Amino acid sequence: MKKVTIYILIIVGICFLIPIIFTVKFKSEKKEKEEKVEIPELSVEQYSYSNFGTIKLLHSKTGEIEEVPLDEYIVEVIAGEMPVDFELEALKAQSVSARTYTLYKIITGTPHEGADICDSSTCCQAWISKEDRFAKWEDNKQEKWNKLVEAVNCTLGEVITYNGELINAFFHSNSGGKTENVSEVWGGSDLPYLMPAETQGEENYTQYHSEAIFTKDEFVQKIKEKYSDIEINFDDEKFGQIQEYTPGGRVKKVQFGNRILTGVETRTLLGLRSARFTVSKEGENIKFDVIGYGHGVGLSQTGADAMAKQGYTYKDILTHFYTNTEITKLE
Ligand SMILES: [Zn+2]
Repeated sequence: MKKVTIYILIIVGICFLIPIIFTVKFKSEKKEKEEKVEIPELSVEQYSYSNFGTIKLLHSKTGEIEEVPLDEYIVEVIAGEMPVDFELEALKAQSVSARTYTLYKIITGTPHEGADICDSSTCCQAWISKEDRFAKWEDNKQEKWNKLVEAVNCTLGEVITYNGELINAFFHSNSGGKTENVSEVWGGSDLPYLMPAETQGEENYTQYHSEAIFTKDEFVQKIKEKYSDIEINFDDEKFGQIQEYTPGGRVKKVQFGNRILTGVETRTLLGLRSARFTVSKEGENIKFDVIGYGHGVGLSQTGADAMAKQGYTYKDILTHFYTNTEITKLE
C-alpha cells in the first residue's frame, strides 16, 4: 500500500473517532448528573419530626392548595380512608401507614406542582375535612372524632422503615385474602417489603365480594377503548379463560377473543373492584365475580381490622403487611 493511502486512512480514522469519544464522554457525564438528582434520601436518620410541620394539600376539585399541620392532616386522611367503627389498633396502623405514605411523597416529590399531596383516593390518598365528616355521621360525632385523634396521637412521629429507610407504604381496602407483589400492579421491580401476605377474616366485610354484569355490546365497547381490533366469539370455550395467575392469586392473563389481557388492564377497562375475578356467561350477559377491593398492594384495611379483632397490635399488623419492616419513631 502506498504511504499516501496510509496517511489518508489514519486521518479519516481520527476524524471518525474524535466525535465518538466526545459523545461517549458527554453521555456518561450527563448520566451521572441525572442519577444524582434521581436518588431521594430516604434514610430516616437525618430527619426530625419537626422537619415535617405542615404539608401543602391540593384540593383536587377546586385546585386550591391549603397548608395543613401534618398530624391534623393525618386525622383527616384516616377519617376519609377507614370506617371509624374499625378497631383502634387498625386505625393506629392506618395512621402510621398514611404518615409514612405522606412523608415518602414529600421527600420523593409528587406530580402536583406547588403541593405535596392531593385529596383524591385514586391519585394519592383520601381526605375529608372535619366539617364534612361530621355532616356524614349521624350521632356521637365528637366521640368518633376523638377516636381518630387518639389513633394519630398514640403513634405520633412513627413511620415504617426498611433497613432504616422510609418505605412507599401503599394500602388498599380489601385484599381478598392475600396481598400482591408491587411489580404485578405497576410493573418495575419488586420491593422486599411489598410481598404477598395472607390474612384471615377479610371475607366478613362487605368490600370482599362484588359482581359486575355487562351486556355483550357493553363489554366489547369497553375493551375497544384500548384494543380497537378486538374480535370476540362469546361461544368459544376459551372466552374469559384465565391463562395465568399472579403470586398474590389475582388474574395475570385472561383471554378475550383474539386478545390476551392482563388482569390489571381488565380491571381498569371494566371498572372492576379488583383484579381477582372469574368470568362467566349469564344468559346474554357477561358476569364478573370479583373478590377484594383495590390494587392489593401493602396494607389491607379490612385485613388490619380483622387482625385487630384477633388481638394483634398495630405494630403486628404493619409488619405483617409490610414484610421485614420496622416501626421507627422520628423525634
Ligand atoms: Zn395526588
